[in-house]
Amino acid sequence: MDTLPPCPECRSTFTYEVEGTLTCPECGHEWPLAAAAEAGLEVRDSVGNLLADGDTVTLIKDLKLKGSSSVLKIGTKVRGIRLADSDHNIDCKIPGIGPIGLKSEFVKKAT
Ligand SMILES: [Zn+2]
Repeated sequence: MDTLPPCPECRSTFTYEVEGTLTCPECGHEWPLAAAAEAGLEVRDSVGNLLADGDTVTLIKDLKLKGSSSVLKIGTKVRGIRLADSDHNIDCKIPGIGPIGLKSEFVKKAT
């Protein structure tokens, strides 16, 4: 713990920690240290397995693709995922469909 993460609000690097809470002196934003350390990159699948870039996951339900009539079938294997810091926290490419974003709660790590 040598360097504290910058403020997610204003990117100030003058953040300081008080009892597990990070505080930004520039904009007054406060956030928990634990969440900052994991900053969107701790992505778990539907059963709680930690996912990593390059993992293969399996869909646990049929997913309708926005703006198309295609449906990703339950059991579809998705290789080479990339974790993303957003609502759809898995970026991947599906053969025949292209790049899409998935939600980690709808997948399970393939073994
Ligand atoms: Zn700030």
